Amino acid sequence: MSVSSWISSLLTLPFAVANEPLARHTTMRLGGPAVMWIEPQTEAELVSFLELNQKVGAPLYVLGGGSNVIPTDEGWSGAVLHLGKGFEQSRVEERVLIAGGGAFLPKLTHFALENQLGNFEWACGIPGSVGGSVWGNAGARGFNGQGFEGRDAATDFAGCIAFDRRGVRHELHKDDVDFSYRRSSLGELIVTEARFTLKPLSANGTLKHKEGVRQLLEVRRKTQPANAASAGCIWKNPKVEGCVSAGALVEQCGLKGQNCGPARVSEVHANFIVNTGGANGAQVRELAQYVEEEVEDQTGIKLEREARFW
Ligand SMILES: Cc1cc2nc3c(=O)[nH]c(=O)nc-3n(C[C@H](O)[C@H](O)[C@H](O)COP(=O)(O)OP(=O)(O)OC[C@H]3O[C@@H](n4cnc5c(N)ncnc54)[C@H](O)[C@@H]3O)c2cc1C
Repeated sequence: MSVSSWISSLLTLPFAVANEPLARHTTMRLGGPAVMWIEPQTEAELVSFLELNQKVGAPLYVLGGGSNVIPTDEGWSGAVLHLGKGFEQSRVEERVLIAGGGAFLPKLTHFALENQLGNFEWACGIPGSVGGSVWGNAGARGFNGQGFEGRDAATDFAGCIAFDRRGVRHELHKDDVDFSYRRSSLGELIVTEARFTLKPLSANGTLKHKEGVRQLLEVRRKTQPANAASAGCIWKNPKVEGCVSAGALVEQCGLKGQNCGPARVSEVHANFIVNTGGANGAQVRELAQYVEEEVEDQTGIKLEREARFW
């Protein structure tokens, strides 16, 4: 099938748009156009797209909140699938939070607390979707009622619904998915819903957990460039003895404030590259590569990327 007939066939879907700028959909505010932007609102719409796309075999990229990706300036020559608002619905059944794959993590933390469920506080400052965050096992400092501790999407994960690229629906139990640091075994699967078993709280406990959220957000405001356009942490923390974090390593190497045009290593947190206005993907790539080479030259440590340069 030619590209033009592929586009015409996808454009028969009412939720498909041609030539959508990805910069509108990434927190770093950059990226060229996607040839096709697909935004289904229901499982049936998702399946109709996947079945059609499967016949053509066109390249497919799944984009959630766009908060951990750096697309190229040329954009994407295939279809970008983004779960629409119909996938943002969440509900609670006893102590289980059932969240749509498109739900926004910070909103979900508050939703859980409104339902007197705690332990989802780790997600309060992560501007990603449930689907992207389960897929990449996002994590951060959380609150357990007594104190603060590291948690991630895997910690209270109970299962999920995911579709494969042929449009087949899978109901996965927690034991079906392997998680490790910022990684899951979900591969090509598209996560449309996830379940988390949380901690039931009393009214007083809820207030305590809300205070935990306030403190977590305050720490973020002080230690991260929360208001700047970024893609979160660019590098994973190296598993090397004596190395506290990737950010500390980049800072020790004197690379805070280094820039390539308007792309700059944040002065607030050296694991963030910020778009100070009009940066493009090539500049972010060049800067990231420069930092990696400098860190390796100075320390011998090879930084591994967490953000997806796509
Ligand atoms: C200010 C800021 C702070 C951040 N803080 C943290 C933090 O504390 N901890 C942390 O872990 N991350 C953090 N991040 C990074 C980012 O928010 C997380 O990685 C988040 O989980 C990414 O989710 P997303 O929906 O935006 O995914 P995207 O960036 O859209 O995509 C990331 C990956 O997930 C895949 N994906 C997206 N949706 C789906 C889906 N439905 N099914 C299957 N695969 C999918 C994509 O194909 C891609 O490979 C931060 C980012 C910013 C900008």
